[in-house]
Amino acid sequence: MTGCDGSDGGRDDREKDGEAESHGDASVDVDRVGKTYRGDRDGDAVRALDDVSFAVDKGEFVCLVGPSGCGKTTLFRIIAGLTDATDGEIRLAGRTVTGPTTDMGVVFQEYHLFPWLTIEENVGFGLERSDRSAAERERRVDEMLDLVGLAEFRGSYPKSLSGGMKQRVAIARALAVDPELLLMDEPFGAVDAQTREMLQRELLDVWESTGKTVLFVTHDVAEAVTLADRIVVMAAEPGRVEEIVDVDVDRPRERGDPTFGEHVARVRELIGAGP
Ligand code: ADP
Ligand code: MG
Repeated sequence: MTGCDGSDGGRDDREKDGEAESHGDASVDVDRVGKTYRGDRDGDAVRALDDVSFAVDKGEFVCLVGPSGCGKTTLFRIIAGLTDATDGEIRLAGRTVTGPTTDMGVVFQEYHLFPWLTIEENVGFGLERSDRSAAERERRVDEMLDLVGLAEFRGSYPKSLSGGMKQRVAIARALAVDPELLLMDEPFGAVDAQTREMLQRELLDVWESTGKTVLFVTHDVAEAVTLADRIVVMAAEPGRVEEIVDVDVDRPRERGDPTFGEHVARVRELIGAGP
């Protein structure tokens, strides 16, 4: 299971840094972020991220790809406010991220649904803490269930759903609070290939209809080329940005299309071209 070190659980998620500066229209600024994990006991320290900088524009779909161990999940957790950076900072809509916030909807590879809650209760979970009225919350849950095509399963429990359906619930829950950013770490890693392609198409539909900013972590290059406006290609040891690739392929994208294949080859070459 990725990134469950259990730390930082007690942070105040409402804290906002008034001194943070804004960088134009960027939705997310990753600004010279570094992360060193100290080895437990006598283990060597690991430089998981070194001087990582890039920005994601409002409404943009950016994928983060790279080999296992290049720091994708570490960066995801830092952006989500679940782990502290050793150096640098993350800004969301110009404000420094100091802990988890409802401005981000987070989707993990594991479904992280509450098994004792129904699908609609899972989707509405984050809304419980919002200042919306009960009627507004209910309407919002309805909208989200429609968006991911699960209205008829509203009263079911997670255990009766397939993996793909569970991940749709996780996406609906993340979007319910109307976040600035949808942040996803290998969200389709646990489903079969066919379901995965379907979820990719659905996510693009959701992105197009909601206009959300999406930052999507994957180690699957074809998935990144299917989804992204731009791909941040990372390299390992230390985890860093190798290059940022524009995906100049019209949507909907077909895997058999020559330009699709060229982009896949380019990104693979960059990943293979490590130190
Ligand atoms: P990725 O998601 O790209 O596979 P990770 O962010 O999980 O990469 O890991 C990056 C590096 O940091 C790896 O060398 C990994 O072993 C190390 N690492 C990740 N989490 C921890 C941790 N909690 N403690 C120590 N080292 C860690
Ligand atoms: Mg990972």
